[in-house]
Amino acid sequence: MTKLITILLFVISAAYTQNSWAQEYAIKVGVLYGQTLTELQIQNGKGKANILFDSLSYNLQDTVFQLKIKSELKDSLSIFLGDSLILKCKMVRVILPQNDYCTIIYKEKNKRSYPGALNLTNVNGFVFVTNLIETENYLPGVLEAEVGLGRAPEYYKVQAIICRTYALSHLRRHEMEDINLCDTEHCQVYKGLSQKSTDLNKAVKKTEGVVMVDSDFMFITAAFHANCGGQTVNSEDVWNKKLDYLRSVKDTFCLRQRSAVWSVSLSADKWSSALLKLCPQYRSEEDSLIQSHEGAFLQFDRKKYYTESHSCMINLKDIRSSFALKSTFFNAYQKNGQIILNGRGFGHGVGLCQDGAMRMAKLGYSYKSILHYYYQNVSIVHLDKLDFFKFNE
Ligand SMILES: [Zn+2]
Ligand SMILES: [Zn+2]
Repeated sequence: MTKLITILLFVISAAYTQNSWAQEYAIKVGVLYGQTLTELQIQNGKGKANILFDSLSYNLQDTVFQLKIKSELKDSLSIFLGDSLILKCKMVRVILPQNDYCTIIYKEKNKRSYPGALNLTNVNGFVFVTNLIETENYLPGVLEAEVGLGRAPEYYKVQAIICRTYALSHLRRHEMEDINLCDTEHCQVYKGLSQKSTDLNKAVKKTEGVVMVDSDFMFITAAFHANCGGQTVNSEDVWNKKLDYLRSVKDTFCLRQRSAVWSVSLSADKWSSALLKLCPQYRSEEDSLIQSHEGAFLQFDRKKYYTESHSCMINLKDIRSSFALKSTFFNAYQKNGQIILNGRGFGHGVGLCQDGAMRMAKLGYSYKSILHYYYQNVSIVHLDKLDFFKFNE
């Protein structure tokens, strides 16, 4: 008899109700999303947890457990303790007390720890893991994954408000999978509990419940990028949607940062064949950058289109993706059959410039001034001031 079977003698019928799962301000994050795992292990953190196997539940009191969970066929999970098969079920749920966590071990040595509750099911033959977590407890992990360690405390507050606003405005992004968000770049990167820096937790705490809304009191699309190169971009130049709070602003704070400048050299042939793919009417004979020795394409202010081809209006964002350029903010000239691109910035350029915001934080600007600098006409408010559930209907 294994230890787990002994524990299961104390099994009680689940008194579990839907309400305990659907806590206010809690979100469901699909974790280890897209990893196609057929096997993983779960291990408790501090020793107490409530575990459910379908409708059977038991409480762990100061008991160390490590279970192996394998997906079988299309809809069931096999639970092992050591090498012994304990039971088969369709769903495993681990409910953790406040300040406790559960660690998932996957692909042999990879580990991630999660607070809140974990739900494991079999979806199409793979273990599908959902972390139900209060938004405020989710954010430190997001900040660690999205921003990294060692930033100014004020900058973490900026990013905490952006990530909170993003999460709450995208709760329907994965509606079909019965989760709110995934843990990859598709939504926000989240690798579980942040344990490496207290600054992250402090920033979330100090801005608890604070979000950004537009003039209609709707959550804003809080876009951000690594470095704007000196000027941010109007939203419609990248996404064809004009948003009043995503206007181009001049930014000198990011100019001396690492990703402020870049340079790329291409053959004229490569340049012209890529532009031909973007515009069938393109003729290299009509491209003054190639035809004239003095030809140059210059952006003192950011432009939306490449202006040296007389038969085509080619969007710079398409040129950027053709050559995997760091940004659309570049000057170009020709030298001996080579097209030289001298660029500024890194990323799409819309919204907050992270390098600029980090510099502002170091110079002593408050998180509010930084947010208002990059997002125009927004209000920075507490969720209490909003009819939160109107966004959730
Ligand atoms: Zn996603
Ligand atoms: Zn900038």
